[in-house]
Amino acid sequence: MVEPDATQGADAVTQLLLPAHTAQARTARARADLPSAEVTGHELDEPVEDGLLAGNVVVDRHRLHAELGAEPAHAERVEAITVHQGECGLEDPSPREGDARSRCHRGGLHGAQVYSVSPERRAAVLLTSAPMGTAEEWVKRDAAVVWHGFTQMAAFADSTPIIVERGEGHELVDVDGRRYLDAISSLWVNTLGHHVPELDAALREQLDRVAHTTLLGNSARITVELAEALAAVVPVDGPHFLFASDGAAAVEQALKIAFQFWANRGVEGRTTFLAFGDAYHGDTVGSLSVGGDGFGTEVFDPLRFPVVRAPGFDDPRCLERAVALVDQHGDRLAALVVEPLVQGAAGMRLAPPEWFTALGVACRERDVLLICDEVATGFGRTGTLFASEQCGLRPDLLCLGKGLTGGYLPMAATAASQRVFDAFLGPDLGGRTLYHGHSYGGNALAAAVALRHLELLGEWRVLDNVRARSAELRALLDDRIAPHPAVRDVRLLGLMGGVELAPPSDGLRWGRRVCAAAVERGVLLRPLGDVVVLMPPLTITSRELETIVSVLAQALDEIGAG
Ligand code: PMP
Repeated sequence: MVEPDATQGADAVTQLLLPAHTAQARTARARADLPSAEVTGHELDEPVEDGLLAGNVVVDRHRLHAELGAEPAHAERVEAITVHQGECGLEDPSPREGDARSRCHRGGLHGAQVYSVSPERRAAVLLTSAPMGTAEEWVKRDAAVVWHGFTQMAAFADSTPIIVERGEGHELVDVDGRRYLDAISSLWVNTLGHHVPELDAALREQLDRVAHTTLLGNSARITVELAEALAAVVPVDGPHFLFASDGAAAVEQALKIAFQFWANRGVEGRTTFLAFGDAYHGDTVGSLSVGGDGFGTEVFDPLRFPVVRAPGFDDPRCLERAVALVDQHGDRLAALVVEPLVQGAAGMRLAPPEWFTALGVACRERDVLLICDEVATGFGRTGTLFASEQCGLRPDLLCLGKGLTGGYLPMAATAASQRVFDAFLGPDLGGRTLYHGHSYGGNALAAAVALRHLELLGEWRVLDNVRARSAELRALLDDRIAPHPAVRDVRLLGLMGGVELAPPSDGLRWGRRVCAAAVERGVLLRPLGDVVVLMPPLTITSRELETIVSVLAQALDEIGAG
């Protein structure tokens, strides 16, 4: 929350009118004594073509040009106008942010956001209503050229998507200057927040050396350093890392490695995989095949290869059943693939660590390769660096993604154990080689960030924060969310949570609507069906958790009340 300028004289109406993206504006924001245009309400009152409206006040972009030397074309955003109550045509700026914002809208303050109101009831208004500058306009431009994943594009523009301009710590700021607490870690990838100076510096330093070189047959120093650092912490024996860019690719290559492992050893018939119901491993055809039904997979069923399927984690006997299936089908199984502890996309379905012990034993006994998909659970999410550690599992293949670069850059990796790796050694250009690898695998910029990120997880004792905040979040959820009549179940492990809603009938889209109500209140949430996902950055604070939970409670009140 930005406080109004305390140095402002009682009679000054407006100050600091600057195009937001200019260096001048940035400096002025940092140093209050720097160039500011004093514009009175009267001066603002002249309507001009493509001016900026503030209630009955129009900000003259051409005057901006004259006073600041900025081209009108560039003066698309005006950073901050501070006005007295009533003087910008607000009906009644209220001391409460939400109220003031909605009243501003009713008062015709198009695209503006009240972000603070002082005790003297002055309203500080952030304007971004220049032509093609509002969120609305950006949504239109977006919908004209962008195709969003897992999104019905016919409904995209109507579902008030936020168009991010920048990130600061745990917050995202949209093109209208509205702030949102990123409570889904930008789809589960962000760990330490946005715009982290240490990660930014690592990226810049690497940029001064080289951005990318190929890992096919060659290497990059920074990627070797990252692999060494990862090798020291992953729960895999003698790991070798095959880098890719997305979680789905990490799983896809694990499946291919497991498949070829047996062929390279001259073992026939080990061509099938065992996977769990409700699992999600990515959206490429191979990863979709080991994933469960749902997630829009039906249309691709003819392409999905068959697997042996254990029940999902909502069945208390799922692990027991999986062990029996390993026994029964061991001879034809190349590998078993599992999300340890949490089936994330299934709606944060949890299985206790001790259930996995027998699974590891069964795989070893029947010589079935174990693939742990830690794309979602890896890098501290569940309170340990990897969920496999809690389960006592040492997989043959470990899939990593999402948090690997702290949410900065697309990088994924498959860690293969020494035993698996060795099965691929043989004559040059021979059939034992793994003929697989992506153009951007091991990207140097991503590697530099991932390496620094791994160091920061230790330096900042991030896992301690995950565990402490997780306990607080649990208490808050138990107290304020679980008893809510609109809630069926609350699930949480580390900072991976799901609130399952209890809509009175199907088709009410409660998940969507609750999240939309939270976004309205400045907390960014995205559901999985009727499960509201809570996945804050790992460095989240107690206060921010409090905000997330109270906003969620308000959203539940709003939607649950009909
Ligand atoms: N595996 C798991 C367990 C996941 O949760 C996800 C993504 N939610 C993936 C794989 C796929 O990762 P990506 O979206 O980066 O391809």
